[in-house]
Amino acid sequence: MTLEDKLGLLTYKGDHQTHIKITDAKVCLNCPKKPCVTACPAGVYTWDDVQKKIIMAYENCVECGAARMMCPFYNIEWVPPRGGFGVAYKYG
Ligand code: SF4
Repeated sequence: MTLEDKLGLLTYKGDHQTHIKITDAKVCLNCPKKPCVTACPAGVYTWDDVQKKIIMAYENCVECGAARMMCPFYNIEWVPPRGGFGVAYKYG
């Protein structure tokens, strides 16, 4: 089973507002390795080479916080989704 298959098994309750923000998009322009793109297991962060900015699919967030921890410039504002929204995990 691939990671994408596993992610497809998760249940999400989507919110209309994001719980993730880039503090300063200009900082990303000069971020050499853009580790948020590869650190996030759910592929929430994508570098758009045309728009020259990070595009976020916050709806897919699995709430692990990896990208925020990996950002060398502390440029990601991340809070848990509002109550009742976000990913739902189950045991077993
Ligand atoms: S790691 Fe941080 S500074 Fe670098 S591209 Fe991602 S959000 Fe921007």
